[in-house]
Amino acid sequence: MKIGFIGLGIMGKPMAKNLVKAGHELRVFDRTKAQAEDVAAMSNGKAVVAANAVDAAKGAELVLTMLPNSPHVKSVMLIDDKVAEHMEKGATFIDMSSINPIASREISEGLSKYGIEMLDAPVSGGEPKAIDGTLSFMVGGKKAVFDKFEPVLKAMGSSVVLCGDIGAGNVTKLCNQIVVAVNIAAVSEALMLGKKAGVDPEAIYKAIRGGLAGSTVMDAKAPMIMDRNFKPGFKIDLHIKDLLNVQDAARAVDSPIPLTVQVAEMMKILHADGQGQSDHSALALVYEKMANTEITRG
Ligand code: NAD
Repeated sequence: MKIGFIGLGIMGKPMAKNLVKAGHELRVFDRTKAQAEDVAAMSNGKAVVAANAVDAAKGAELVLTMLPNSPHVKSVMLIDDKVAEHMEKGATFIDMSSINPIASREISEGLSKYGIEMLDAPVSGGEPKAIDGTLSFMVGGKKAVFDKFEPVLKAMGSSVVLCGDIGAGNVTKLCNQIVVAVNIAAVSEALMLGKKAGVDPEAIYKAIRGGLAGSTVMDAKAPMIMDRNFKPGFKIDLHIKDLLNVQDAARAVDSPIPLTVQVAEMMKILHADGQGQSDHSALALVYEKMANTEITRG
């Protein structure tokens, strides 16, 4: 399939590479040109660097975006680049960025003027699963559109689930981000208690990871915390973005989010401290500041 792919950051770049490996033809664009060149370099001519976002959509049956947040997707599709105006007749748009579900619905409505169908299809799994092609997609939109493009998403992910109408993918993603954020905070809080109480955090992790407290989040982030490795991964600033989107979405339907608000405030402390580009496992640093103790092994 001919695909235009816009946004080739930590996630988009390996996802685009997996589409190439699956035999798709890509036109790729990122405002950092080197990102697009990197995809083209491994593609044996299957991926071409586009001059701009509109050029990426040229000839494409499907346009994909993997951008930071709602304003970026709106800007590219409708406001500044206006990709929607230039898409091929009958082409479809799938946004894989994690954005506000209210914005997904607004963008879909904007696209309907041009007869363009849209799915919102954010992912979970992070960079390692983007590289392996084992991401989890949570999708919103019409079943017929989902059925048509599910094989394309399957080239990048091992789980692809239709969650409901447009916006349902991003509602599901926000639910995911609540669980991840609160879980990292809980792991940090627990390992700090262990350290302060004189029990090796590594021993605590090993002892509890197989029981009810164990989780994918714990397995991914506890070793990073103890290794003092806060290289992203998933950046604090992006998680703040998600938790602010949670707050907007929760306000719209009057749903309580006391834990999300607490963890978002802790992440904002990190941002103010210059840690916005660190991995979200850096949440442990807030506890370390409060306790004046590092969560190291031993
Ligand atoms: P990133 O910052 O690494 O990549 C975003 C890319 O978009 C950058 O390369 C940037 O140059 C490009 N970009 C921004 N505005 C642009 C524009 N107007 N035109 C063209 N290119 C533009 O971010 P990421 O980690 O790849 O995340 C992308 C999305 O995926 C975010 O919504 C994020 O929340 C979500 N996500 C990230 C992870 C993760 O672990 N990193 C996991 C799941 C979901």
